[in-house]
Amino acid sequence: MHYRPARLDRAASNELSRRASTPRIAANGVGWLPVPGWELSWLWSGFSTRMGGVSRAYCADDVQGELNLGFTAHDNREAVAANRRLLVEAVTGDASTPLVTVQQFHSNLVVRVTAADAQRERPWKADGVITNNPGLLLAALTADCIPVLVADRKRRAVGAFHAGWRGTMKRIVENGVGRMRLEFGSRPEDLVAAIGPGIGQCCYAVGEEVFSEFESQFTYGHELFREVYDSDVMRTKYPMLFLTRRAPGHSLIAPSLHVDLIEANRRQLMAAGVAERAIQIVGGCTQCQPKLFYSHRGSRGHAGRMMAVIGLRGL
Ligand SMILES: [Zn+2]
Repeated sequence: MHYRPARLDRAASNELSRRASTPRIAANGVGWLPVPGWELSWLWSGFSTRMGGVSRAYCADDVQGELNLGFTAHDNREAVAANRRLLVEAVTGDASTPLVTVQQFHSNLVVRVTAADAQRERPWKADGVITNNPGLLLAALTADCIPVLVADRKRRAVGAFHAGWRGTMKRIVENGVGRMRLEFGSRPEDLVAAIGPGIGQCCYAVGEEVFSEFESQFTYGHELFREVYDSDVMRTKYPMLFLTRRAPGHSLIAPSLHVDLIEANRRQLMAAGVAERAIQIVGGCTQCQPKLFYSHRGSRGHAGRMMAVIGLRGL
């Protein structure tokens, strides 16, 4: 049996939902989310949505094409490659800007790259990618997991990280900031960070074992969890919460345990020395906003991938 403290805060799922702002639509039709306040002369950055693109693999019938950016089993490579060029063009103004992706596997490995790595037949296996070379874009692919972008304003270096619950547990983002310090001499006080769209605490129900693992790894572990009631249950069946005689945990209307991976990664950035005010939460729940985002959970595994990208502008 896993231990769970009696007093976790409770909430209705709709109270925990963070909506994304309206995407910017590029001239080529790509809908993407810039980071507020990051319109800087030396930096490219942004988060993709489903909007735009030529992919038909996950589309509704009334949509022309979508921006799946992952080489998934259900989509064709040409469509995904075309979509990648469209996103790169939307963010950098030039479809030929090199784009470096990695083969993600829920680790805490971080790889330092150059533009040459965009040509690799087999991408590096890692969940974080960093560089201080200008003129290339780094990417993290997600469809519920949390994408995190980091930029060093003084030393001019950038990183993109992929943090699902396993990667978050393994401290991918803390590790990523550590590697930036080591490789580039980055000082945490010079770093800015942006946490992109992912599955929100509104939707991310997990098992007791996830709670136990976070509790064992982080002093603030329990603060990342809420007991969540389905909003409809709260509204229509509220009295039943008090009338049910089933044993705790066996009631059909018992709350479920939800983890906040966005907060978990915000805490890791702060633990690594990044100032709280330097961390932007872009918002958007991948499962609550299915028109805007792919959600692995929300579509039971049949989902495309979004991309978080960052780079130092070319000279
Ligand atoms: Zn949600």
